[in-house]
Amino acid sequence: MGYWATLAEGWQLYVEYAATTAQTQLTTTQMTLGQQQSQAIALSTGTWSAPPLLFRVAGGFVLQLETATGAVFVQIQRGQIQAIASLPSGVEADRVPLEQRNGPVPGAMPPLSPLPPLSPLPPLSPMQPGRMSMGGMSMNLDAMQMRMGDMELTMGDRSSPNPLRKFCPQCSNAVQVGDRFCAHCGHRLGEQNA
Ligand SMILES: [Zn+2]
Repeated sequence: MGYWATLAEGWQLYVEYAATTAQTQLTTTQMTLGQQQSQAIALSTGTWSAPPLLFRVAGGFVLQLETATGAVFVQIQRGQIQAIASLPSGVEADRVPLEQRNGPVPGAMPPLSPLPPLSPLPPLSPMQPGRMSMGGMSMNLDAMQMRMGDMELTMGDRSSPNPLRKFCPQCSNAVQVGDRFCAHCGHRLGEQNA
C-alpha cells in the first residue's frame, strides 16, 4: 500500500513503505519526449506513524514522512530526489494531495498500456529499425529528387541555347548541328556553331 500524486503533467510520485526492509521507497516517473524516466530512492525510515504529506516548494516538492524517530523530509525535483534536513518554511499551506493506492504510479501505466498493443507491434518491431532507416532513405530520396530536379534544370538550360535543329543562314535549309558546311549550298557554318 502506498501513496501517489501527480506532481505535474506527466510527472508522478509514488511513495511506499516496505515492511520487509523497513524502508520507504520513493519513485518518480516522468515522460520526457515520449520516454518514461523513473527515479527511485529508498530511505531507512521504519514504520510511518502518519500518512506522508506532500508540499509544493520552489523548484519542486517536499515529502514529509512521520516516523518513530521523527520527521523525514525528501526533496523531489525533476531528475533528483534527496533527503533534506527540514521542511522549507512557509510551504505548509501549499499541500499537494496524496492518494492512497496499492500499486505503482498509475501514470506509469499509460506508457505501458500503449505497449500491450505489442501484439500488433511485433510485426512492427522488425520494422522499427527498418522504419528508421527507411525514414533516412526517404530523406535521401527526397534529396536525390531535389538533386535530380537540379540536374533536369541544368540539362534544360544546356539544351535550350543548343537546339538540335539549325538552319543555314544562307539558304535557310535545315543543317545538322556540328556541320561545318551547309549540305545544300556549301555555306560555311563552323564559326556560328562553335
Ligand atoms: Zn545553305
